[in-house]
Amino acid sequence: MKLVFATHNDHKLKEVQQLLPENIELLSLKDIECFDEIPETGDTLEENAKIKADFVTQTHGLNCFSDDTGLLVDALDGAPGVYSARYAGEQKSAKDNMAKLLSKLKGENDRAAHFKTVIHLNLQGNSYSFEGIVEGVITEAECGSGGFGYDPIFKPNGFDKTFGELPSETKNAISHRGRAIQKLVDFLKKSVY
Ligand code: IMP
Repeated sequence: MKLVFATHNDHKLKEVQQLLPENIELLSLKDIECFDEIPETGDTLEENAKIKADFVTQTHGLNCFSDDTGLLVDALDGAPGVYSARYAGEQKSAKDNMAKLLSKLKGENDRAAHFKTVIHLNLQGNSYSFEGIVEGVITEAECGSGGFGYDPIFKPNGFDKTFGELPSETKNAISHRGRAIQKLVDFLKKSVY
């Protein structure tokens, strides 16, 4: 069965491909020659994931899933949340985003935060949603240079290192995206023959 992952990110594609059973042929947006800029106009991660998957299913008539992720900080009422990629502006700079977040949290004692990934799946006329969360704290300064996005300032609970310092295998095993993908894969293994 063909299944589209509505992403242009080869790294994400590879991560999912490795986990899927052989009877599922995973295709990227490039594979189906979908080069449209799909607008992420939703107010929530759930809405954005649905918009992207629905766009592909409606325009190409294919089974498709899509993911959307945000960092939600307790002391900021869940910001940057759905706006995580462009928190400090449309340049979507990880450095600028981290600097803005650290400055907003200056002097703040409650540094609890979580990453949340939502996956929306359109499969044979039905829709399904999967969620993955990892809880942690925002550090006082950047630590480590691994990963991407907010990784150098996010320390997952139970670890004394940030995602920017931890090996990628450790991050993938406990991360929001890893958890959501595992739920998707478990579901597909049960549902697709
Ligand atoms: P996306 O929905 O996966 O494109 O994620 C949106 C934004 O959330 C990214 O541009 C990053 O700023 C942030 N983000 C998502 N996943 C991670 C992660 O694993 N580590 C750090 N930042 C992330």
